[in-house]
Order: sequence, then structure tokens, then C-alpha cells
Amino acid sequence: MTKAQAKERVAKLRQVIDHHRYLYHVFDRQEISEAALDSLKHELYRLEQRFPELITPDSPTQRVGGKPLEQFSKVTHAAPMLSMEDVFSPEELAAWRDRLANYLGRELGGFYAEIKMDGLAVSLVYRDGVLAGGATRGDGRVGEDVLMNLKTIEAIPLTLRVPEEKEISAFLKEFGDGIDEKVFRAAVTGHRGRIEVRGEAFMRKKVFDALNREQEKAGLPPFANPRNASAGSIRQLDSSITRARHLDFYGYALLGDFGLSTHEQAHEAMKLLGVPVNPLNRRAADLGEVEKYHREIGLKRPQLEYWTDGAVVVVNDDKLFERLGVVGKTPRGIVAYKFPAEQATTVVEDVRVQVGRTGVLTPVAVMRPVFVAGTTVMHATLHNMDEIDRLGLKIGDTVIIEKAGDVIPKVVKVLAEARTGKEKAFHMPKKCPECGAAVVRRAGEVAHVCPNKNCPAQSLGRVLHVVSRGAFDMQGLGDKIIERFLEEGLIRDAADLFTLRKEDIAKLERFGDLSATNVIDTIHARKSLPLWRFIYALGIRHIGGETAIDLADRFHDIAALRKASLEELTAVDNVGPVMAESLRGWFDDPENAAFVDKLLRHVVIERPKAKSKGPLSGQSFVLTGTLESMSRDEAADRIRELGGSVSEAVGKKTSYVVVGADPGSKFEKAKKLKVPILNEKEFLAIVK
Ligand SMILES: [Zn+2]
Repeated sequence: MTKAQAKERVAKLRQVIDHHRYLYHVFDRQEISEAALDSLKHELYRLEQRFPELITPDSPTQRVGGKPLEQFSKVTHAAPMLSMEDVFSPEELAAWRDRLANYLGRELGGFYAEIKMDGLAVSLVYRDGVLAGGATRGDGRVGEDVLMNLKTIEAIPLTLRVPEEKEISAFLKEFGDGIDEKVFRAAVTGHRGRIEVRGEAFMRKKVFDALNREQEKAGLPPFANPRNASAGSIRQLDSSITRARHLDFYGYALLGDFGLSTHEQAHEAMKLLGVPVNPLNRRAADLGEVEKYHREIGLKRPQLEYWTDGAVVVVNDDKLFERLGVVGKTPRGIVAYKFPAEQATTVVEDVRVQVGRTGVLTPVAVMRPVFVAGTTVMHATLHNMDEIDRLGLKIGDTVIIEKAGDVIPKVVKVLAEARTGKEKAFHMPKKCPECGAAVVRRAGEVAHVCPNKNCPAQSLGRVLHVVSRGAFDMQGLGDKIIERFLEEGLIRDAADLFTLRKEDIAKLERFGDLSATNVIDTIHARKSLPLWRFIYALGIRHIGGETAIDLADRFHDIAALRKASLEELTAVDNVGPVMAESLRGWFDDPENAAFVDKLLRHVVIERPKAKSKGPLSGQSFVLTGTLESMSRDEAADRIRELGGSVSEAVGKKTSYVVVGADPGSKFEKAKKLKVPILNEKEFLAIVK
């Protein structure tokens, strides 16, 4: 990117960010998610880092929090309450560490890792051990005096505690390295002068849900998120309202002369003083341990009683932290390591069209790479032309993309206000990009389709589906190899794979004897397979792996399934009229029938094991999110072993939804339909 391009982009980003801040703060309207706004700020921050001359004092990156409200008296913070920079990936975290080490010309030593609480940052000032001041962060320099309200929070001590001698010696024994013991003892027992504790006032999930139910009953708008709820509860002119909201508090910084030398010591010292700190915070010797911590917290997240959107990573050595200093309003030595957000913003650089095995043309957005939900994403499906029209998407647009769990990323919104006028409209091609056949759009269907059954893209798609993991599972037969076989005329369909000869493959350029043998071995090792895999391999529209299992359980052999009437098909669990019609229509097509016959000449279908009767017989499970102790496939196998069934979609017949970390939309659906929800622990108790 040239400087001129960066300048244009920076101006646009500021405009878009300010627009959404304005909507939010003035009209209480949130049109894009927090994560999307973060993503825009992140891009702006990165550009400003690359071109520092583009930083202006009014840039959104230079701002902390909001302006203090007029109704409250103002408090000037003794030391400014600063903000943190965000990082979103291990690479960005490592780059942060390298920058700091470079700046200091030495290694950083260890870190302290904390849970980033999603609440409101506040400052508590103690004079001679008595709580005498309490303020919000405000703009970082000047906050609002909310002492009366903070005093209603039970977790905040009104007077600092004097620890017993044995606690002090235990502390010194465990954490005493580098401490000025005399100063520490005097401070921790005498509390003389000014001591400041900074921390987060927050609302527990249960309290938040109850509060929103009350808001709803009273006909008031619900709070969008716990941070708003915490902030709204503290910035109350009537303290009795704050009290009724049952807020909580964890400290994260201790200011005063305690003779300490690390951030960890400050946390431990707060405990001695009776200030609650998050018990999950801990020292991390290096970034490897930080990563481990981050992963652990990410997995625990659904079970935690409060919200968190990441970890805070601090250079543990206080002296180094100070030497690292502050840039603008962010200290160098601290960073927020966010959990993978499910939304991010990026730019659509092109739209390409893919032709699938059924001939459907799918437009795919080619995007500037962006890190979202734990992976770098460059493509997002746009589904069809209707979807592009609905989004109003043009090539060159800035968009919000979303990726939840293992779901394919999708574009959820176009930020039209970020346009420069150079964006280009996208049109579906009139001819198939793979074979040149005229594209058709059947009446009543949204999809554009290549009608040519011999279209190379369709043939390739069909064979790839047959060899895919859920079907024949021929690992090692990737798309490059299959494409080659088709191009060379070695195969015309998947059934031909079984009659391939080693010599034919070995003759191909860049294929040696060895790899030809491997390919043949792989194919022949998969000649025998369970009925459900065979059904799934046929690639019949609407028939996924779980439905294939239900069909196999009911019909036991392929001949019976091929003959089944619509009535017999709809009588199968989880099979509706659309699936039944799709099956019947597929088997009735003579070409498909010939393909099945051809496959059956080479393949052995294993006799299905009698469905085991077990403690879970008659119970249907849906799995979503990541489980800590086993993969989702393992969990599904375990359920089936015990006689239960596993379904892909949440419905009225679902007995339980098992929810792991970062669950997808199935979790929301389960809550909506009031289907019983199991966390991993509860699930394990059932399947043990
Ligand atoms: Zn085609």
C-alpha cells in the first residue's frame, strides 16, 4: 500500500468509526458488533503504525473511553488511567514481544497473565486505609466521582485489611524476590497516606440475565452487553439503584509505595489488603505459557460466571514496564490478547465463481486476509446472486465477515460508508466459467446452474465428494490428483477409481512407481465400507452424514433403500418430505442408477451392526462448539455406542444440546426452543 492509499483508507476508517461511535453514544444504537468495530480500529492502528505521520490527535486510536457526564463531579486521576492495544493472534502477540525486546535491547523476563474482565474500569483511593475516593476512568485523565455508588459494591473493602504476621511471612517466602521488605511491611500494615487500587467493576452473567428480564417486564430496552449494564449501574445518580444491581469487583493494579518489584507481587499484595483479585490470574514465564493460559481460559469461558473477551498480558518486571513507557495513551508493556472474535472487517478484492458437483454456481468473495475465530480467512461464500443483491455488495467494498466455530465464513454486512466510488458491481457470468455452457436459472430457484452434466468442474466435484472424509475417506487423493486423472481420461467417474491400474498412473508425468502404488493401495483399502458411508458418498442433495446414518439404520441394505417409496422414506427419523423427494428423484434418474450399479460391482457394503440398545436409546443429541476432552466425532461415536442418535440440526425432537467452547448458532436455537443444554462436564457424566 502506498502512502497516498493509506492516507485515503485512514480517513475513511476514521469516518466510519466515528459514525458508529456517534450512533452508539448519542442514539444508543449499535448497528455493527463490538468485534467489527474493534477490527476497524485495529486496521487503523496498524496503518498508523506503518505511517506514523498520519496519526492525528483526533484519531479514534488516540482516545480513551468517553467524556465524563456533567451530572457527576470530576476527579482528576493522580496518574492517567490508560488503555491497552489489542492483539488477535499468536503472531501479533509475538511481534509485540519482539518490538519490546528490540526497544529495550534485552529480553523481557516473564509476564503476568490476567483475565480481561468485561466491565467498567474504576479507581479506588484509600487515605490512611479508608476508602475516600472512587471514580470512573472517564477520558483517562478526568473521571466521574462515583464513590457513593462504588461503596454499595460488597466486594470493595471500605477499609484496607491488616494482614497477620504469618500471612506476611508466607507472602515474603513465596513472592518476596526483589521486595524491599521494610517498606513492604510498613505499607501493608500501616496503610499510611494515599493508596490507590484500580480494577474492574463487573456484573455476573446470572445477574445480567435477571436484570434484562426485569428491564423487559418494565417495558425498558435490554442492556446490549454486560459492560453497558455495569457502566449504566455505576453511573447512577441514585446509589440505591447501583446497590440493587449487585455488581462485583476485581482489582488489577496497586499504586502506592509498597517496595514491590513485579506485577505479580502487586496482585498478591492486594489479596493481603482484602482486595479481591481474579483467582485465575497467574505468572507466565514466557509466551508459550501465555498461549497456554489463553487457550485454557478460552475453553473455560462458557463456564465462567462473568464475561471476558481475552487475556491481559503485562510485562511482570515493574522496572522494565516503566522503562517501556507510554505511546500516546497506551503503555507499551501491556496488551490485550483478545479471544478470536467471530466477526472482523476486511476488503473484498474480487468475486470469483465456483462450480460445484451439482452444477450450482457459487460466488465467492476473495478478501484481504483477516484473522477471525482463530484462523486467517481469505474467502467467504456469497451463496448466490440474491444474497449479493441483498447485501448490496460490490467488488472493493469494506465488509463485516463472520465465522462461528467450524462454519464457513460469510459476509454479513457491507459498510457502504467506507466506499470511495471506485467499487465495481458484480454480475453472474452468462456462461459457465469451467465449460462454457449457457448458465440457467430455473424458475423459483435462486441458484444459477451449469446444466452440463459433463462439465469438468461437476465431474471433479462429484469424485471429490466420493473420496471425501465422510464418504470413502480416501486420504491422500486430493483435488490435484483427481483432476489429473479426469483430465488424462483415466477416470470418468468415481467408480472408475477401482479399475485404475498401477501402470496407467505410473506413466503420468511426475508420478513415480511408489506414488502410483500408494494411490492404488489407498483406493483398495477402502473397497469395503458401512452402508451409511456409501449412501452419503452418492452426494444426493440434502442428504448429509447424519441422515445417511438414519437411512442405513432403517433400510439395512442399499437395494431396499433404492426401492423405498416416499411414504417409507418420510417415515424415517429426521427425514422430511424435501429429503424424501430428493432421494426418490435421485434414484429414479437412470444415469444415477447406472452409477450405483457400477460402484456396487467393485465395492463391498458391510452388514450394519444391529443398533445397540443402551442407556441412551431413543435420545437424540446435537453437538456444538469445541469439547476439551474429545473431538466431536468421538463424542458422536460414544453417543451411538450407548444407543443414542446424533442429529445435525436442533429441533423439537432434540433431547439434549451439548455445548462446548465457542458454540455456534445451534446453541442460540437450543435456548430459543428451550431444549435442555449440557456442558461438557454434564455430558461426560452421562456417557461415562
Ligand atoms: Zn460447466
